[in-house]
Amino acid sequence: MSNLANRRTGASEAGGVELAGRCACGKIRYRLGANPLIVHACHCRDCQRITGGAFALNLWIERKFVTREGPEPKSCRLAGGSGQPHDVFFCGDCGTYLWSFYHGAPGDALFVRAGTLEHPDAVRPAVHIFTRSKLPWVQLPAGARAFETFYKLDEVFSEASKVRLKANRAESA
Ligand SMILES: [Zn+2]
Ligand SMILES: [Zn+2]
Repeated sequence: MSNLANRRTGASEAGGVELAGRCACGKIRYRLGANPLIVHACHCRDCQRITGGAFALNLWIERKFVTREGPEPKSCRLAGGSGQPHDVFFCGDCGTYLWSFYHGAPGDALFVRAGTLEHPDAVRPAVHIFTRSKLPWVQLPAGARAFETFYKLDEVFSEASKVRLKANRAESA
């Protein structure tokens, strides 16, 4: 992947670092078989509440690339901001939130929490979204791409990610 593509998606500059992670107690482990389509820093109120933090770091990746070991995560269904449901998946033992499935998002993809990676420094947000509810003391890096709400996929996704998303939509249709 070129450096430009890396900047567009937020994937590792190092390349080749395997993206793998786990919940806090370690019963659920996962590996990602591809770089994310894009990495979001989401400052929406739902993400703040679910993570208990200022924002969530989400790796948007096709579900087929997420390989899990250990027990099936538990889930709960929330009303998503888009009006479509949002399923949140977490370890039944320690309660760590591992990923989300947004019914309103195109294709069949999971939004994996970057903080659960073994090496969360392998990714960085390509875009900050829902900054309308960003906490006022959070300073975005100079030049960061940021949107009050969501963005137009065509304007933000790398060309490679557009191709993958199109394939993912076709597969899940
Ligand atoms: Zn756990
Ligand atoms: Zn959010």
